[in-house]
Amino acid sequence: MSNASASPSASPRVPAQGRPELSIVVPVHNEAENLPLLVARLNTVLAAAVSSWELVCVDDGSRDDTLAVLRRLCAEDARVSAISFSRNFGKEIAIAAGLDHAAGDAVVIMDADLQHPPETIPAFLAKWREGFLNVYGQRTDRDGESRLKRNFARAFYKLFARFGETELPAGAGDFRLLDRKVVDALRALPERARFSKGLYAWVGFASAGVTFEVAERAHGQTKFRFGRLFSFAFDGLSSFSTVPLKIATWAGVAIALISTLTGLFFLLRTLVFGTDLPGFPSLIVSIMFFSSIQLISLGLIGEYVGRIFAEVKRRPLYLIGERVGFDARTVDHPRGDALPPLIR
Ligand code: UDP
Ligand code: MG
Repeated sequence: MSNASASPSASPRVPAQGRPELSIVVPVHNEAENLPLLVARLNTVLAAAVSSWELVCVDDGSRDDTLAVLRRLCAEDARVSAISFSRNFGKEIAIAAGLDHAAGDAVVIMDADLQHPPETIPAFLAKWREGFLNVYGQRTDRDGESRLKRNFARAFYKLFARFGETELPAGAGDFRLLDRKVVDALRALPERARFSKGLYAWVGFASAGVTFEVAERAHGQTKFRFGRLFSFAFDGLSSFSTVPLKIATWAGVAIALISTLTGLFFLLRTLVFGTDLPGFPSLIVSIMFFSSIQLISLGLIGEYVGRIFAEVKRRPLYLIGERVGFDARTVDHPRGDALPPLIR
């Protein structure tokens, strides 16, 4: 098999006649109750909207009966297929796997919890048919989320807008439609730390937004606790900005200037007024201050080195435990170079 990460367009794909017009990619983690509702809603909406469609669910190491539900849904409807990871790899990686397995001319990415209303998809399709290749859903409000999460998100996007090297459209998330061209471009990006929102913007192509209202979660609760959001945010910033690394340099320059001036001041004072015993506390405070700056700078560099380490190991992005409903198809192997036959 060819290397999917090097040349996505040349990799063996589903035969053209088997290609649906639209693929829906859904990352799924413990969503057993939501999946049947989602399939029913999609069925109603897509019947009139497209000539053919498929649903690719990526079971991201669920611990409830999500996989059993997926097997049943796949058996009932040939348009539904699923891949099941060997463990939880995270939503971003689940999306990447879904894109690897989707065969449609266009792909819609959406959450399984019905917070992304399927009824918005026809509006996405309309934009796509107008010629936009990268159509993103824009949240009109964040009312459904806690205040803390909302403020955190706002602060993060401000920071990203200021320091990130890629511009993110306001309110855009993972709910979006991507043309086959964009999907192939995304599949060719080899990085393991995947901050999808940044990657969608980075690849470019003719883009347009469609507003939608985030619905309430149908069942269950959010999987993104605060700690996880925080590390996700740093992943995002560090993959799209090297500014944190420069902070150490700037701080060093500023502090060197200040200390030179302070040194001159003390020198002059000693020359004019003679020596006296300078304050001991100020000495301790300044030592502590400068050591903390050094440690923070080292830590920041460490964060980047850690991420470089993760990239150079070149482990496959994900491991598949089981494929359901893909028997009739040729599917690319996951990204990563040589994969043992064991996991295919
Ligand atoms: N999800 C996933 N892997 C994870 C966590 C979440 O695939 O480790 C999926 C989840 O099943 C849902 C989507 O990602 O379809 C969004 O998750 P959630 O609703 O918990 O996030 P929120 O809407 O609160 O941002
Ligand atoms: Mg949700």
